[in-house]
Amino acid sequence: MGRKRAGRKMPKPKPELCPKAVVKMADELRAEFHKDIEDARIAYVFVPKGLAKHGRVSLGSAKKESDAHRLVSGVNFIVRLSLDKWNSFTLEQQRAVLDHELCHCAAKYDDKTAERVGWKVRGHDLEEFGEVIERHGLYLPDRKAFVENAARQLEMKFKLARKHKKAG
Ligand SMILES: [Zn+2]
Repeated sequence: MGRKRAGRKMPKPKPELCPKAVVKMADELRAEFHKDIEDARIAYVFVPKGLAKHGRVSLGSAKKESDAHRLVSGVNFIVRLSLDKWNSFTLEQQRAVLDHELCHCAAKYDDKTAERVGWKVRGHDLEEFGEVIERHGLYLPDRKAFVENAARQLEMKFKLARKHKKAG
């Protein structure tokens, strides 16, 4: 009782820096879609396992370094990717997850001068429950815009599939 089990304990897997291929993928995404954080210093870290949050396993996270930490690390943001999830994804899914985390990283501008004054973490465009949409429909403009965008994606995919079918 309360005694440690005999035998050697497996060392706990530790976070590690992501390999160059991941950094390259992120750099490409930043150059194409994230101009506002193009010169931010971002560290990419693999954590062994995605942590459960609200009963859901996290695919990754993005955090801004505090001013004190930045003095030591020289880094503005840390993007963490859950290695177990990452390894189960296709290349396209990996790109999307990385793009998602980069969306959380944003520049902070002065309201009056519009000058950049630092960095901030951006929240999601939409947080919602599927069952609320089921019960109440797209009850606010942001819900509507989000779903319409998704519907356009589906339509595009559908058209593309039909075109391929015709061509083939
Ligand atoms: Zn997110």
